[in-house]
Amino acid sequence: MLVDSHCHLDFPQLADRIEQIIGLMRANDVGCALCIGVTLERLARVLQLADTWPMLLATVGVHPEETGVREATVDDLVRLAAHPRVVAIGETGLDYYWHKDAPEWQRERFRTHIRAARVTGKPLVIHTREAAADTLRLMAEEGAGEVGGIMHCFTESWPIAQAALDLGFHISLSGIVTFKNALTVREVALRVPLDRLLVETDSPYLAPVPYRGKTNQPAYVRHVAEDVARLRGLSYQQVADATTANFFNLFPEAHTKVAQ
Ligand SMILES: [Zn+2]
Ligand SMILES: [Zn+2]
Repeated sequence: MLVDSHCHLDFPQLADRIEQIIGLMRANDVGCALCIGVTLERLARVLQLADTWPMLLATVGVHPEETGVREATVDDLVRLAAHPRVVAIGETGLDYYWHKDAPEWQRERFRTHIRAARVTGKPLVIHTREAAADTLRLMAEEGAGEVGGIMHCFTESWPIAQAALDLGFHISLSGIVTFKNALTVREVALRVPLDRLLVETDSPYLAPVPYRGKTNQPAYVRHVAEDVARLRGLSYQQVADATTANFFNLFPEAHTKVAQ
């Protein structure tokens, strides 16, 4: 089976056709998908998905791009992460692409999430865009390596990947790896140790070839895994087995929570 390590099934592009999405996951041997929380306001919907469907798990966090939403305290995150379907804290991180002034509140929000992860012992799901140096600095300062986690939808260079790997993190590749002009990501896809690699869709965004430009969904993670296999000269099954094992090693509690 295959795991989609990052998706947004509560988003309006996908929320009204969940049964169809689950059906296509089953048909493509995608046995699990991690549904990512982006605000506290929307969290109930994410948790409801994970409560309803045994193949879905959830995370709790406030995304670095989100403004005008409730700010989470460490206590909030710890309390909400006690929900039985929640296996990670995030998504969190830094995004200076959408916030070019690199605001201090983003770094404070990120620190809060790392602290909550350390209290709960749950791994982090980290988003970083045009903010790699600060992201790594805060991860180191706050001791994120103690819990580890996922650098999701990784698009940074190999040296940044190496630094995250050194902190004990996994690298998750999205459909971007299937874009022939994504040379940086394809280099990372070749070099990340197979036992630290994950695959994701980040659906509804970033649909892989041959669905590029369309609405993405977890079943399409298969195309990400197939492309990584081609790049590395491995079989699809080898990549599926490795990335699935990595997911359940990173989230040991997921084993008993996902009906397979
Ligand atoms: Zn993200
Ligand atoms: Zn996301």
